[in-house]
Amino acid sequence: MIAILKKNADSNAVAHLVSWIEKKGLTAHVSHGENETIIGLVGDTTKIDPFLLESMDIVQRVQRVSEPFKKANRKFHPADSVIDCGGVPIGGGNFQVIAGPCSVEGDNLVRIARRVKEAGATMLRGGAYKPRTSPYAYQGMGPRGLDLLLEARAETGLPIVTEIMDPRDIDEFLSRGIDVMQIGARNAQNFPLLKEVGKTRVPVLLKRGLAGTIDELLMAAEYIMSEGNDNVILCERGIRTFETRTRNTFDLNAVPVLHELSHLPVVADPSHATGYTRYVEPMALAAVAAGADGLEVEVHDDPAHAWSDGAQALTPEMFDDLMARIRIIREAITADACQER
Ligand code: PEP
Ligand code: MN
Repeated sequence: MIAILKKNADSNAVAHLVSWIEKKGLTAHVSHGENETIIGLVGDTTKIDPFLLESMDIVQRVQRVSEPFKKANRKFHPADSVIDCGGVPIGGGNFQVIAGPCSVEGDNLVRIARRVKEAGATMLRGGAYKPRTSPYAYQGMGPRGLDLLLEARAETGLPIVTEIMDPRDIDEFLSRGIDVMQIGARNAQNFPLLKEVGKTRVPVLLKRGLAGTIDELLMAAEYIMSEGNDNVILCERGIRTFETRTRNTFDLNAVPVLHELSHLPVVADPSHATGYTRYVEPMALAAVAAGADGLEVEVHDDPAHAWSDGAQALTPEMFDDLMARIRIIREAITADACQER
């Protein structure tokens, strides 16, 4: 349920209404927009009489929200959320590119970080904890990998995005000041993990599950937000379908659909979505054209010898080219079309 307040609602009256809602055992989520203030009511709304709420002086109207996701819902928060990732804002017109190797492997990380930064990447990715299908495949460097990421950050200034798989590692991520915690596709419905990252205030890059629907992605975001962490970035990374020519099927529909349903930033990952280097650039550009707030792209200086996902990695030279084309697409889609006519 949301209460849309009258334009002149004074702050004391708003505070009074919030405490009235809280006394009923619900949470009030206040969103101050440019034109209107909205209070989102989360919890057992059967305890609230909508007619009584609408009769209050400062309330313009009351609307039921039928979707099960509340805090992630654009109805609760009409303006785009802008999330601060270690000093780099994403969302609401702030477009960012997260680039780097699939796995942290050693000293080549700093080299790759320097190159992607030169090309225009604004955040560095690299997995220190890797979710692998086989227990015998490379599992990641663990804490040493996190330290290498911090060295690369110190060297380049790029905020770090890295995957967390186990709630027991959260303290390790917090004590090192990791800028963005990634929840991978395989953990998109690991509810205990989602709740634990929700108790922090560290931004979370939340990937869509391997066979997850858009609504399931939003409900996973809701798990994190319901614990108090509003800093969630959604990520479309391809889904499993009957198609076998590509690693996954890139569901670019999800970009405008998520923007319609939610205020959270939407990032697209054309690397895992396609699985092949040669398809990454065209699909990255398509995601930018579809209005993604950012991209996550795997880049490696020697893909043939990468410890994981070499088949989908761009070389730094390919990434230079991609960044140049991304700039052109961004200019095209943010230009005022009316002016051009
Ligand atoms: C990754 O980013 O390296 C990764 C494992 O991605 P996903 O969880 O989308 O498969
Ligand atoms: Mn990968």
